[in-house]
Amino acid sequence: MTPPITSQKHIVVSPEGGIKITEHFDQINGRTRAGKNGKQVMCPVCQCKNRVYHFSWSSMTCTSCKSDVEKEKWLVDQLDTWRTPR
Ligand SMILES: [Zn+2]
Repeated sequence: MTPPITSQKHIVVSPEGGIKITEHFDQINGRTRAGKNGKQVMCPVCQCKNRVYHFSWSSMTCTSCKSDVEKEKWLVDQLDTWRTPR
């Protein structure tokens, strides 16, 4: 069994040499907020994606692999941003 992943990046290199990061997942931390549109989270075990609308839970069972994953182990989409208006 492979250990759970702790982050994931998806980088696209264009033929012209440009590099674009299309996905960037990191572990949930205390500053992670779902925002009004929710956040995409990735299961660190099977890497399937789920959308959550709040983080007021301590662990969640993956709908795909049925692993009971602690909140801190889930990976949150860093590019799926929602910013608080200043
Ligand atoms: Zn899973």
